[in-house]
Amino acid sequence: KVLKVAIMGLGSYANRVADAMKDCKRAKITGVISGTPSKVKDWQTRFNIPDKNCYNYDNFDAIKNNPDIDAVYIITPNAQHHPQTLRVAAAGKHVICEKPMSINAKEGKEMIEACKKAEVHLLIGYRMHFEANTLEIVRMQREGELGKIRFFQGLSGFRIGDPTQWRLNRELAGGGAMMDIGIYAINGSRYMIGEDPFWVTAQEVKTDPVKFKEGVDETITFQLGFPSGAIASCLSTYNMNYLDKFFLNGDNGFAEMQPSTGYGPIRSWTNKGRLDLPHVTHQTTQMEEMAAIILDGKKAVIPVDGEEGWKDMVIIDAIFESLRTGNKVEIKYA
Ligand code: NAD
Repeated sequence: KVLKVAIMGLGSYANRVADAMKDCKRAKITGVISGTPSKVKDWQTRFNIPDKNCYNYDNFDAIKNNPDIDAVYIITPNAQHHPQTLRVAAAGKHVICEKPMSINAKEGKEMIEACKKAEVHLLIGYRMHFEANTLEIVRMQREGELGKIRFFQGLSGFRIGDPTQWRLNRELAGGGAMMDIGIYAINGSRYMIGEDPFWVTAQEVKTDPVKFKEGVDETITFQLGFPSGAIASCLSTYNMNYLDKFFLNGDNGFAEMQPSTGYGPIRSWTNKGRLDLPHVTHQTTQMEEMAAIILDGKKAVIPVDGEEGWKDMVIIDAIFESLRTGNKVEIKYA
């Protein structure tokens, strides 16, 4: 059986996903949802999509009656993920939603509940959860090869261009660098350490208040505390290039990845030497595995469900609260 996927939002990442899906055996693009007729035409030609499987943002609730669509992959600006997920779930279709799943934990929880009620899967586009180097280091950590884990460092950032893009618009992005790229350090700290943090402290630096307006973060450093006593030190920024690095430290070893979350190849090494496992296009593996999760009930080694996405939103809420209050904030998953 093949997972029949409609792509919602035909922007730059959607194009990357679609190209990667050409190599998938279990997942296939069968439909599109877009507000731009010229893009729809282009995708129809490229992916052989019939008119009856093309929708816009006003009429896509009608996918409910379309047996050619099993799931919708939402690849739109962050603030739209919540309302669009609720509509896809109401139409009875599985949801694959890009990160960040929403712009706060409350909306994330509503998305989980809507999908549960509709009895559809909700999966978040965490492609690194299926990447070979990442999985090998997580295996080493879980099997105790690195000894007791004490420390994680996650550095995530790039210098952002065009000041008019939606990523720098609070209404559409829900924030700035943290929602977009800092989330990789947060999520990485959790799968690399293998626990969920329970406190956070955070500091913000803004060098360009014209480009990075109120509510749009430029650079944030933050620290996380984990139940075992492990700590993490992280950086999220839209103002520095070449920041894509994870470092995990245990009593008996270390693992490092740089780049750690880019489109690849991922470079990695441990105290025993280089790892550098072969590169496979991340989105190809991700969509094969997500098809197996939805069609066969397969369990992911590192989860990609709504709960997983929601925990990152709880942490982001706590980071913003720490910045607002200047206090160390307790992270509560409830
Ligand atoms: P993009 O700007 O290239 O594409 C966004 C698409 O949404 C465009 O086709 C645009 O036309 C459409 N859109 C619909 N309503 C819009 C509106 N009101 N304003 C602006 N655009 C609107 O962005 P992107 O880089 O493709 O990012 C889309 C989503 O994918 C984001 O949530 C982002 O975080 C996520 N993403 C994930 C990864 C990853 O590696 N997992 C990588 C890039 C982007």
